[in-house]
Amino acid sequence: MGGLDVAAWPPNEISLSGEDRVLFLTKDFELIRQQVHEGLSLKMEDLDPDDLLDDINTDVMTPAWVCFDWDPARIAENAYAGLTIEGKSVIGEGGLKAGGFKGIVSGFRKGTGSSRETAPQCERWSGIRLIFARSFAPIHERNNINLGQLMGDLDQLRRLQSGVSLSLTEFTSRYNSASAAILESGGLIPFTARLRQGEVVIPPIERDDGPMTMFEHMIARKRVGGSGQILPGDSLVARVDSGYSHEFTSAQVHAFLKQAHGDEYSVQNPNKFAVFEDHLLYAAFNPRFSPLEEKIQELRDLQSEFQAHTGVRDYSAVNGVSPGICHQVAREEFIDIGDFVQATDSHTCMGGCSNALAFGVGATEYAALIEGGITFVSVPESIRFELTGTLAPNVTAKDVMLYILAKHARNEETLDRAMEFGGEGLASMSMDERATLCNMATECSAKTGICEADEVTVAWLEERRGYPITLEDAVFPDAGAIYSGGVHVVNLDDLEPMVATPGDPNRGIPSDPTNGMLVSELGNISIDIAYGGSCTAGKIDDIRFYADVCRNAFLAGRKIAEGVDFFIQFGSGEVQNHASEQGWVELFKKVGAEIIEPGCGACIGAGPGISVRSEQVTVSAINRNYSGRSGPGSLYLASPLTVAASAFTGKISAYEPDMFASN
Ligand code: SF4
Repeated sequence: MGGLDVAAWPPNEISLSGEDRVLFLTKDFELIRQQVHEGLSLKMEDLDPDDLLDDINTDVMTPAWVCFDWDPARIAENAYAGLTIEGKSVIGEGGLKAGGFKGIVSGFRKGTGSSRETAPQCERWSGIRLIFARSFAPIHERNNINLGQLMGDLDQLRRLQSGVSLSLTEFTSRYNSASAAILESGGLIPFTARLRQGEVVIPPIERDDGPMTMFEHMIARKRVGGSGQILPGDSLVARVDSGYSHEFTSAQVHAFLKQAHGDEYSVQNPNKFAVFEDHLLYAAFNPRFSPLEEKIQELRDLQSEFQAHTGVRDYSAVNGVSPGICHQVAREEFIDIGDFVQATDSHTCMGGCSNALAFGVGATEYAALIEGGITFVSVPESIRFELTGTLAPNVTAKDVMLYILAKHARNEETLDRAMEFGGEGLASMSMDERATLCNMATECSAKTGICEADEVTVAWLEERRGYPITLEDAVFPDAGAIYSGGVHVVNLDDLEPMVATPGDPNRGIPSDPTNGMLVSELGNISIDIAYGGSCTAGKIDDIRFYADVCRNAFLAGRKIAEGVDFFIQFGSGEVQNHASEQGWVELFKKVGAEIIEPGCGACIGAGPGISVRSEQVTVSAINRNYSGRSGPGSLYLASPLTVAASAFTGKISAYEPDMFASN
């Protein structure tokens, strides 16, 4: 695992010499190709900022199959493998490294999508140390900080390219003191070493009491030292209650810990942390992944080695069957009200439905926090969604999030903010539906999602824990708390079934969860695949939605539409058992749906529910439709009800309880 010598980085003065190349990631892929393969050199002044490629998601930088190589140096060989023209990589194997680039530049929201740290690693291990963009997705930005990558804006790039050198503080001063210190140290691992040696000190925050949002309250309780009000922009050290990694990420965590602390490293509180085998069990379903089975097995073996070495809780598959998707099992088994949870997956925020503070982190950050039991937190701004009314019978929490994505996330109102959900509309929702709200905070590029707790929360947890739970540990926002993102009333009565469309990549409209549209305005979209499952839509209530539709269709004598594959996958063993007890499994079989054991994979192209040909159209209850992530076809995101209804009609259709009776 080479390339970790950070001693020389960063210098106090940042400059670009004549030989220091900068790669401009432009909407015109031919320009990218010419820079990488024909030596074309561009300057910011040659381009309009709108020429730069927006929404580069982490799957484009390191598609799932690239991450099967857990060693960052090997990952860098396939940097940007997801950036393709007609299925062919624009940059090519080894192209980024061979190009000798020191900087890279793109448009808005660099690094959206999953939390995978492999994305910034692919640039870092290709020799790139300066990243310029019009804005960054929060987890990606955090991962860059942890790797010591300096991030700047287009004006800084212009000045550097005109021969001006900039002080290091120009790149660090917009961050809080902890993040700035991490950057100045060359990354989180060298920073942690400096912290232990007393070379850096994070002063505790001392303030008078004052009103706080839910995020601020939660982190105030977990902080080490200090007192009083917490505000956005604060950085502090906090105790972590629990966390987890999965087979896609554990190998790197293990490697980074060995590298930082030696082969005999140990972790604090192993019984509070866990490993899950849930993402790659069905990877061979993707013909592209089956030749990579050896690498996937290496990931599994390294996770087992990590688990045995550390003694963390083991949620490995038994006889090839996973106990379930990490986020679902974690909320069922150990995320409690008021907990602070960190895990190596972007949808960790799903735990916020139990009034916990939960969000995803990269492998480097997870390695540091599992070893020491504490982490550094930058307090984000908050945005509140006050839900009123009640959902119509054919509208679900997924539609609420597709609406919020289109109306609020698309114009970055949620970017890097903590999303708070509350109000009487929230109180009318089940815990599983609340989990969908928090889960998709990730697609909103938010820091996390948190739901207010109530008796529904308490009852759901008590049923699973078997001991009394109280609301005493719950946090609520104070009157007067500051919501920089505003307080937005969402009247659930007004919402209709929605989809997020695959956009039109040929016209520069990427496939994205923010491409919201009412199903009623969509027109006639025939489908080949309907998928119901994933961490977003594999919960008990989701399976109940599929069952409601299937029952009505069955009673009307309907079967799955000809030519459509309808997959239903359980989020956990508990969900599967419940479905069996309710007779839903039998029902699914009768109508012709294909049932898959607990786990995930479709969302990362690693299981049933993916497309394998570009002309295929999928309607899916998963959370994201980034181009190519779940196969080469077109992917529409929709609610579990819409997915199931569409499976019977053969085209994307909103569910109506009497829709089959009239046919
Ligand atoms: S949908 Fe599945 S693959 Fe995607 S983040 Fe959730 S658990 Fe992971």
